[in-house]
Amino acid sequence: MGRSLGVELITAKTCSFDCLFCESGPTTVHTLHRDRLVPVGDVLDELSDWFDRGGTADYVTLAGAGEPTLHLDFGRVLEALKPRPVQSALLTNSSLMHLPEVRRDAAMADLVKASLSAWDETSFRRLNRPCDGVDFREILDGLTAFRSAFTGRFWLEVMVLDGINDNPADMRRIAEQVDALHPDRVHLNTVIRPPAYRTAVAVDPGRLNGLASLFRSPVEISMAAPGPHGPGKGADADLVPDILAIVSRRPCTLADLCAVSGQPKAVLSDRLKSLLDAGLVRVDHRPDGDYWMAGRP
Ligand code: SF4
Repeated sequence: MGRSLGVELITAKTCSFDCLFCESGPTTVHTLHRDRLVPVGDVLDELSDWFDRGGTADYVTLAGAGEPTLHLDFGRVLEALKPRPVQSALLTNSSLMHLPEVRRDAAMADLVKASLSAWDETSFRRLNRPCDGVDFREILDGLTAFRSAFTGRFWLEVMVLDGINDNPADMRRIAEQVDALHPDRVHLNTVIRPPAYRTAVAVDPGRLNGLASLFRSPVEISMAAPGPHGPGKGADADLVPDILAIVSRRPCTLADLCAVSGQPKAVLSDRLKSLLDAGLVRVDHRPDGDYWMAGRP
């Protein structure tokens, strides 16, 4: 998606799912109840301010640590972006797509990327751990209704976990459902950052490549780390609030933080060490790298 400005309409972490692989940690408010979780007027003011200060991006994306369509006014944000020189995107778990008002509001996005990683109710419950009231069949029906009316770009993400949905027979069933929705693009993804639950284990890229052949839709293997986001604050700037804000949303490597902030490794390494000593961050040493996250060891 190039450079994307993420907009969070949800207080962490409110979601209708509690996915094994979630990079935002376990769900703390597990609900299907729609509400005005943050004042949308404040979000629109912040966005307006960002544009006035010359902010540019390829996309403004409704995403974050939770399900954006749980916010009753997410459509107002998409509507406000229409006259702006930027594309809008919505990342959704589709749990509310059976509601006509959610489909109507979601259709205001230029790009909708929905997730679909299970093939039946049982696999859905095991992988995505939905709250009461969410039904897999209803999700498929909602996505079908949305797809048949939506004129923007429609992508689907399939998250592949070792031993859970990477069996070719199971993936073939997922692929059939995915292909029936005629996505413009499919992202085949696996766990990159530390997941909410340790039972979520990544598959290797070779396996993803093999599974990609089961889809008729165009597939991209989506395992990239974030790209450079341009120069950030000066090296003397107080980076601590930014670092804490980023790692409180999702675990990050030092390289991720450098890419997001535009700061050199030495500077960030120094700040992270101070935050570690102060007990404000912790580090998870994993085979694929050290991941920094908010909180005490
Ligand atoms: S991955 Fe998305 S849908 Fe799943 S628990 Fe996390 S925020 Fe919710």
